[in-house]
Amino acid sequence: MSTPAPLWRFPGGLMLPGHKDLSTSRPLGRAAIPPQLVLPLQQHIGAPANPLVQVGDRVFKGQMLASPEGFVSAPIHASTSGTIIAIEDRPVPHPSGLNAPCIVLESDGQDLWCEHQGHPDYASLDPSALRNLIRDAGIVGLGGAGFPAFIKLNPGARTSVETLILNGAECEPFISCDDMLMRERAEEVILGARIMRHALRAKHCLIGIEDNKPEAIAAIRAALQHLNQPEIQVVVVPSRYPAGGEKQLIKALTGKEVPSQGLPIDIGVVCHNVATAASIFRAVELGEPLLSRIVTITGHAAAQPQNLEVLIGTPIRDVLDQCGGDNGQPHRLLLGGPMMGFALQHRDLPITKTANCLLLATEADAPDRQAISECIRCGQCAEVCPIRLLPQQLYWHTKAKDFDKAQDYDLFDCIECGCCSHICPAQLPLVQFYRFAKTHIWAQDREKRLADQARERHEFRLFRQQREKEEKAARHKAKAKAVAKGGDDETKKAAIQAAMERAKAKKVAQQTGEPVAEQLPTAQHAPSSTASPAEPEKETKS
Ligand code: SF4
Ligand code: SF4
Repeated sequence: MSTPAPLWRFPGGLMLPGHKDLSTSRPLGRAAIPPQLVLPLQQHIGAPANPLVQVGDRVFKGQMLASPEGFVSAPIHASTSGTIIAIEDRPVPHPSGLNAPCIVLESDGQDLWCEHQGHPDYASLDPSALRNLIRDAGIVGLGGAGFPAFIKLNPGARTSVETLILNGAECEPFISCDDMLMRERAEEVILGARIMRHALRAKHCLIGIEDNKPEAIAAIRAALQHLNQPEIQVVVVPSRYPAGGEKQLIKALTGKEVPSQGLPIDIGVVCHNVATAASIFRAVELGEPLLSRIVTITGHAAAQPQNLEVLIGTPIRDVLDQCGGDNGQPHRLLLGGPMMGFALQHRDLPITKTANCLLLATEADAPDRQAISECIRCGQCAEVCPIRLLPQQLYWHTKAKDFDKAQDYDLFDCIECGCCSHICPAQLPLVQFYRFAKTHIWAQDREKRLADQARERHEFRLFRQQREKEEKAARHKAKAKAVAKGGDDETKKAAIQAAMERAKAKKVAQQTGEPVAEQLPTAQHAPSSTASPAEPEKETKS
């Protein structure tokens, strides 16, 4: 048995009631195949995918329907077999409430797979081939915002990373999808971790799990023993929100701090979610792209809280119906947990790759915060901030729309954990101010980038026109020079010709005994070199 890794404490944070047992008391279930699935082309960070199919096409389960556009992107696959009935804008689960392009698939109920093949001998593949398999399987980070997983499996300039961390902390109240995954599919998680280690050439691997998940901890430890993986260790972390934040977990497990505006790889660490590891195992060893995920249906207004494995694209309404809908209590429907989730306007939205929890939240579960006073400068927000930011200062500057100042206070280091809003006695919706400011700055940056690109294009066009003008002038000059040079050549040719004629005349004169031009006084020479050698002789004679 290897020595357990030491634990470090991250700053701030909150002890929150977990409410996990609401949804873990029932076993993991499987949601039914719905009659229609809606697959947004963007379910990940980066560029939306490009459709490869047309309306009317028959498709099979696992078939790629849209290919990645550029490096930071991910493909979309058919979650079941059926027919494409539309490619159009549909409502998607996003705080903006806006529509986005989607592929609509009518299922045939047969769930027929396309041809697919796994690579059980993953160790024979080199890391770049592995990353390509993972990219083509459409795998994105399943615990966060959906960053394409293959990118985070590239150590970049490094030849290897020190530590691969699997995040099984799942610290936000109510959410238990990772807990159930680790309890019921622990070996898939470990097999995925092995593949990730190989891709990253990671020296060792730590799996961080909060101490409120004893069944998951036991299951993962048993799988490690069964699969004989001594270089992968479970580290139990205290349940304190947000222990599952990437930076907080890295700090807790390694004592290292990710630099401001930096990435974990900067300190030799890569962090992935446990569910991402399990889907990487299925993609590489079984050849299955990412077609489903585990979703927690919970909250004190849920009739039958449970975890279900749901096909990507299944309407939320169908998922909720399968769990008996609500129990009649007044509630709001949130996507995600009470700290970081957002309210959904309606239920006709699809489950996407990043949808971890449907929370039918009573007012007590997730208070709909409305400010009751202005900031009273109590400083409690700063005490709980896990990043050691000054939320109160951020609030004042974002409220005043002084975004430069907000950035001076490291706005972009804020992980939007909501600890500050949760503790604020004035009930200020602080995170909403930060999100608004970030969105505004991104939009400004984008506009500036577009303006810069337009200016660069214009300047390049002017440069090109000037260059073409100069090249044309140079060509003309060269041509003129060539013509002039041609004239010189004519002169030279004539001179040579004249010399040859003179030599000939000299020879003739020597034979006949007559004087030649060179032997006469200079004044008697022909006036022009082009004159015939015979002429001077005539002139001399006359
Ligand atoms: S907790 Fe709220 S009231 Fe107190 S300083 Fe922070 S923002 Fe102001
Ligand atoms: S939301 Fe941002 S500012 Fe507030 S506590 Fe979390 S990291 Fe700190």
